[in-house]
Amino acid sequence: MVATELTRNGCRVEVVQGDITQLAVDAIVNAANPWLAGGGGVDGAIHRAGGPTILQECRQIMEQRGGRPLAAGEAVITGGGQLPARYVIHTVGPVYREWTPAEAAERLAACYRNSLALLRQHGLRSIAFPAISTGAYGYPPEEACPIAVRTVLEELERHDACERLIFCTFGARDYELYRQELGRISGAG
Ligand code: ADP
Repeated sequence: MVATELTRNGCRVEVVQGDITQLAVDAIVNAANPWLAGGGGVDGAIHRAGGPTILQECRQIMEQRGGRPLAAGEAVITGGGQLPARYVIHTVGPVYREWTPAEAAERLAACYRNSLALLRQHGLRSIAFPAISTGAYGYPPEEACPIAVRTVLEELERHDACERLIFCTFGARDYELYRQELGRISGAG
């Protein structure tokens, strides 16, 4: 199910519902944990589908960092292993209850900004995001969605970021949330 929703600064922004591991884009984004250790949710799905090389690269990154966990909002990049995507950008969303709402929003926005910065640094042109933090990390989807959309659109205006950007939602409710949010913005602008 694909709905092309709007174009910003030459980038097509889409909402799809489905499994992010199936998307053939330059990079998919993983909602990782601070130790890049793999886990449940979208993280588990990406490592299962991508095979062991992604986790090996994650371990190397952690070694280079001397074991220092990623802060909420940080992002790193690995290859895509056996995935159709060439790269995986691992970003750590905020655990909602650990922050004030304003701080959580800022950290969540940083996940999207830093992921897009890595995309640019690697000369990549297409990316898919899951709804970061809205699963195990407890961020209310209806609060997270406008932050994700607003941040991404601001970044697309600011930089020649990419040609195709996908919000990959898993559940039907998230799909509608994103469609409505993008629809509201394209209607207004
Ligand atoms: P977090 O720990 O950041 O909350 P989760 O993986 O628990 O991350 O959830 C983030 C979002 O990813 C949730 O909306 C969840 O439904 C969604 N999700 C889970 N599996 C997949 C998948 N295979 N593809 C896309 N989204 C997924």
